[in-house]
Amino acid sequence: MNRIYLDNNATTPVDPEVLKSMIPYFTDEFGNAASRHPFGWKAQEAVGRARNIIAAELSAKPKEIIFTSGATESVNLAIKGFCEANESKGKHIITQVIEHKAVLDTCAEMEARGWDVTTLPIQADGLISLADLKNAIRDDTMLVSIMHANNEIGVIHDLEAIGTLCRENGICFFTDAAQSFGKIPTDVQAMNLSMLAGTAHKMYGPKGIGFLYVNSDVKLKLQMDGGGHERGLRSGTLPVPLIVGFGEAVKRCADLRDEETERLKSMRDRLLKGILNALPDTIVNGTLEPRLGNNLNVSFPNVDGEALHLKLESISCSSGSACTSATLEPSYVMKALGHSDALAKASLRIGFGRLNSESDVDEALQEIVGAVQS
Ligand SMILES: *Cc1c(COP(=O)(O)O)cnc(C)c1O
Repeated sequence: MNRIYLDNNATTPVDPEVLKSMIPYFTDEFGNAASRHPFGWKAQEAVGRARNIIAAELSAKPKEIIFTSGATESVNLAIKGFCEANESKGKHIITQVIEHKAVLDTCAEMEARGWDVTTLPIQADGLISLADLKNAIRDDTMLVSIMHANNEIGVIHDLEAIGTLCRENGICFFTDAAQSFGKIPTDVQAMNLSMLAGTAHKMYGPKGIGFLYVNSDVKLKLQMDGGGHERGLRSGTLPVPLIVGFGEAVKRCADLRDEETERLKSMRDRLLKGILNALPDTIVNGTLEPRLGNNLNVSFPNVDGEALHLKLESISCSSGSACTSATLEPSYVMKALGHSDALAKASLRIGFGRLNSESDVDEALQEIVGAVQS
């Protein structure tokens, strides 16, 4: 059985160049970046190089990058840390309905602690309306948390416009950029971002390493007590090999970006064209523009979702449902688009990646069309 991997919005393989860059830091250069001797200095220098690469990618300052274990931890530090340190600014947060669970569940936790949370709806295109955001802003709004690109339907929010609204109203603007970092050029100055969360394993880096960009004027309450690493905001010995790999992954993404975006987008568009030709009733979830070039999400009316997924043998992609315990729950993103449970389950998320080839498109097309028709 030849499983073609088409789930690059869930995670990506580590690029061989990235792996190569990491290996010396598991072996000869194993020092603790906090140690004051040559082993430590070597590790510290390597961390510094990676921090510079990541900061430059965002037009941020290196000291504004706080390494964490991934985007989930970064989101928790951003939202909880900001709320706890800035209660005097008000207790109202604005977010939107198809954020990742890391954001939605953290906002729910703040609600349980006495904050007021407004969750904006999405429009048919999968994006919030700026007018809705404007109307939701109150005197006591202290934080806006809106993601850059969505993990299920790939749609991209206009962070510059949202950032401008936040600036005009003196509100802290945080974005979950787990899907876009490295793929879409991002400028925290132009977008007026106070905080941004990123992760390596969605962009050909290793799992277990992420960062939070925190503008140097923003105060956060730390969420991890300890040795005071990372400007005191995130204690814990730095995972030097993972950080080195993250830096290399960003460099690779930036070097390959234009070519790779075009290549994956043309594969995506060719697959969609083939599906629509054979199955004209297919619904495309979320607008195709602006959208991550590698992402496609489609629903097939009057198709049994579970049977559809069982039929897809040679491709690995994600369904419109998340496996929670033994039951298949329809995706809340599909539900927010107005789909019934049945239609939500009869959906596929396809994420092309660096390792996919044109022949993967042909095979996926044949397999998907065959499965839906049967
Ligand atoms: C993957 C993802 C996360 C979680 O990132 P981890 O590094 O796995 O914790 C958060 N938000 C979005 C949009 C994601 O795609």
